[in-house]
Amino acid sequence: MNIMPNDLGRQYGLHAAEYEEKAIQVLRSGWYVLGKEVAAFEQEWAAYIGAKHCVGLASGLDALWISFRLLGIGAGDEVIVCANAYIACVMGISMNGATPVFVEPDEYDNLDADKIEAAITPKTKAILAVHLYGQACDMTKIMQIARKHNLKVVEDCAQSHGNHWNGKTAGTFGDVGCFSFYPTKGCGAFGDAGCIVTDNDELAQMFRVFRNYGSEKRYHNKMVGTNSRLDELQAGLLRVKLKHLDEFNAERCVIAELYNEELKNPHIRLPKIHKEADSTWHQYVIHVPKGRDQLADYLKERGIGTIIHYPIPPHLSEAYAYLGLKRGDFPIAERFADEVLSLPMYNGMTEEEQHYVIDAINEWEPTT
Ligand SMILES: *Cc1c(COP(=O)(O)O)cnc(C)c1O
Repeated sequence: MNIMPNDLGRQYGLHAAEYEEKAIQVLRSGWYVLGKEVAAFEQEWAAYIGAKHCVGLASGLDALWISFRLLGIGAGDEVIVCANAYIACVMGISMNGATPVFVEPDEYDNLDADKIEAAITPKTKAILAVHLYGQACDMTKIMQIARKHNLKVVEDCAQSHGNHWNGKTAGTFGDVGCFSFYPTKGCGAFGDAGCIVTDNDELAQMFRVFRNYGSEKRYHNKMVGTNSRLDELQAGLLRVKLKHLDEFNAERCVIAELYNEELKNPHIRLPKIHKEADSTWHQYVIHVPKGRDQLADYLKERGIGTIIHYPIPPHLSEAYAYLGLKRGDFPIAERFADEVLSLPMYNGMTEEEQHYVIDAINEWEPTT
C-alpha cells in the first residue's frame, strides 16, 4: 500500500463538481481580483470565525508581516514567539526589522505561557501566539500577560481554522488573527491566499488600504502599501471549501480518534490536547524520543509517507544566524525538532489505510 502524508486530491474528489462549477462561473465573470467573491468570502469567513472584519490577502506570511507593520512594530522592537514555530512566523516579525524573541514550547507543542514573562524586556511590543498543529495556545494566560505588560497580540491561525480555546474561536482573542489558505491548510485554496480577522474597525480599514498599494480611492495613495490582493478565483473556491469546513474538521477528528485509540507502542508519545482546547488536527504529531528517523525510514519502506514539522528550529536556521543564537539555547524546542513526526492525515483517508499505518507503527521497535 502507498500512503502519502497528505493527499489533496482526495479532498478535492469529495466535492469536485462544486469547485469546477464555481471556477467556471468566476472565469466567465470577467472580473478577477478583489471583487464580489472576495467581498462575500470576507463576510463569510468573519462570520465563521466570529470576528467583526476579515480582509483577504495574498498569503499567510503577508497576513503576519502586514499585521506587525500596521501595529507599528519594527526596528528596535521585540516580539515573543515560540521556539518551535514555523519559519514563516519568525519572518513575519523580522521582515519589519523587529527582533524575534524565542520562548520554549510546552507539552502541547505550543508556546509555554508560563515562560513568557521571563522573556519580556522594555523593548517587547507584542506576542505572536502560533496555534500549532490545529490546537490553540493558552490564550487565557497569554491575554492576561499582554494586558499586564501592555503588549499587542497577533494570533497565527495558519494551522487552526475553526478550533477553540475555552469555547472561543482561535483568531478572536488578540488584536489580529492571521490565516493562511495555502493548499495544505485546513481550509485550503488552489494556490496562495490568506487573510486577517479583527474586531478593530480602524485597523481593518488600514489593511484594506495597505493591501492595494495604500489606495483607498483608485490612484489616491494614503500610504506606501503593498500588493497583497486576494483574487476572485481563490475567494470563490474558498467559499466552497468553507461550506464544507466543519465536515472536513470533523472527519480529521475521527481519524485522530482512531490513532489515539489504536496506536500502542511504548516507544512513541501521542499528541496531548489541553482540556481547554479542541483540535482541528491540522497535523497528527507524535513524539519519538529515540529513533524518530529510524521510524520514518521504516514507514517509508512500507510505503507510508511522513513529514517532520519542523526539523530545524528557527534559531538554528541559517536564515537567523545573525541573531547569534546557538544549539543549547532552547533545549526543549531542539529536542522536539529531533522527536516529532507527523503521521498521514487527510480528508478522504480510508480506515483501511489508517489501520495499515497503525499496524506498522505498533510493530516497530527501535534498534540501538
Ligand atoms: C503556512 C504557515 C504560515 C505561512 O503561510 P503562507 O500562506 O504559506 O505564507 C505561517 N504560519 C504558520 C504556522 C503556517 O503553518
